[in-house]
Amino acid sequence: MTRRTRVRFAPSPTGPLHMGGVRTALYNYLYAKQKGGDFIIRIEDTDSNRFVPGAEQYIIEALNWCGIIPDEGVDENGKVVETASEKHPHAPYRQSQRRGIYRKYAEQLVNDGFAYYAFDTAEELNAARAACEANGQTFIYNQGTRMSLRNSLSMPESEWKPLLETRTDWTVRFKMPENTVVAMDDMIRGHVEINTDTLDDKVLWKRADELPTYHLANIVDDHLMEITEVIRGEEWLPSLPLHYLLYQAFGWQDTMPRFAHLPLLLKPVGNGKLSKRDGDKMGFPVFPLNWLNSEGETYHGYREDGYFPEAFVNLLAMLGWNPGTEQEMFSMQELIDAFSIDHVSKSGAKFNPDKAKWYNKEYLRLKSDEELTEAFIPVLAAHGIENVDKAWLLKVVSLIKERATFVADFWTIASYLFVAPSEYNEKDAAKFWKEENYKLALKVADFILAFEGEFTKENLEGPLEEYIRGNEWPMGKVMNCLRLALVGASNGLGIADIVTLIGKDEFARRIEAIKAKLC
Ligand code: GLU
Repeated sequence: MTRRTRVRFAPSPTGPLHMGGVRTALYNYLYAKQKGGDFIIRIEDTDSNRFVPGAEQYIIEALNWCGIIPDEGVDENGKVVETASEKHPHAPYRQSQRRGIYRKYAEQLVNDGFAYYAFDTAEELNAARAACEANGQTFIYNQGTRMSLRNSLSMPESEWKPLLETRTDWTVRFKMPENTVVAMDDMIRGHVEINTDTLDDKVLWKRADELPTYHLANIVDDHLMEITEVIRGEEWLPSLPLHYLLYQAFGWQDTMPRFAHLPLLLKPVGNGKLSKRDGDKMGFPVFPLNWLNSEGETYHGYREDGYFPEAFVNLLAMLGWNPGTEQEMFSMQELIDAFSIDHVSKSGAKFNPDKAKWYNKEYLRLKSDEELTEAFIPVLAAHGIENVDKAWLLKVVSLIKERATFVADFWTIASYLFVAPSEYNEKDAAKFWKEENYKLALKVADFILAFEGEFTKENLEGPLEEYIRGNEWPMGKVMNCLRLALVGASNGLGIADIVTLIGKDEFARRIEAIKAKLC
């Protein structure tokens, strides 16, 4: 019987979600949607030492911004579901609230001989570690050492059993089998084998906080939630043998999910994992949204840096997956249709910040002038410009959008349309404000001011050029002189565009200002 596809994104709320984490969520989402299955969110918060307030909400908000909407685990208000319902049958979806579930599974493993109780204190473990290191060895809690440590395998039952009641610091550890080859299949990496002698007896459950560790909670929940594929980051590959062995120990092999470990995101230059520090150094975000950490430091987010969510999703999709064609632009629906684990690469995906910008520029071009105008209004407000005529602004946006990567660039490109230049670029001035040029430019200004027709680009452009050409004046030099007066620099829109957008009165004011300076 084929099972309904059910995949999950299972973040630990230990800080803001890195863009690699968003990519994991995205691939899970695409996989589920393509197969008509379910995409579930589960919060893995059993490690209370690493809990960071606000991280859970950040993760949900980030996914929501990207349009990665879970079918299960989070409700319409963006809250992690705590009470079971038809839509969310496995609630609560926060592992700390499922604590009652795991103990019996830990005990089942002990009773069936796959795990044992361990009573070593932190001091005893430190001493064992130090003794090993003194001999030049690394300590590992496994078949080589466990019989010399304090646990239910090394101690007589009469001695350890009472400790379960009298002590509150014991743990349940997995009894890693000796010299056994675990043969695993990964959907991306293929067949992988490992000998258990290199592995340790991982803690599965802790009496101290009555909570499971990641491994136990993860396997139990994936089983209970009927997960069919586990798609996660490569950093979890070393845990895979233990996870296989846990499925076997529970007797759940038949419904064990298939595994796919995604390649790392790599730094733009050199080797190694893409880190927050690379972002700081090279000035690009590595987080989806801004995050203010407890030291008052802000990590940059794609959203606040002006990226469109569609661009962010598209660029993430291409980091580690390729469609097998030349196509680069994909809407979410196109990604859902085209995605395939077979086309996810084994090797790390190098992040290219220029490509990220390229994507944003492409998506900006696809937006309507109306939408861009709406997005520009808050940017203007941040610069103190309010109540601008919308029809006029629409015209401005349509003229400048081709040059912009972000909506915020509109301001950098065209602030001179809103405020007169307060200074003039020195280099440009030295180059263009030669007396023989600006005298001519001022004559052109007089021609414009005397122009009697309606002030539109169409009406003005032809006569203006004819006038300059008719006088056999140097077109480029004269235009650049004028542009310098109007813009403050020698780059910007065509003169006829600028003049019609700022209007005759403002044009006159700027010409007066330049006359006062030059003449
Ligand atoms: N809680 C783990 C994490 O934070 C989940 C790993 C998994 O998907 O199995 O990445």
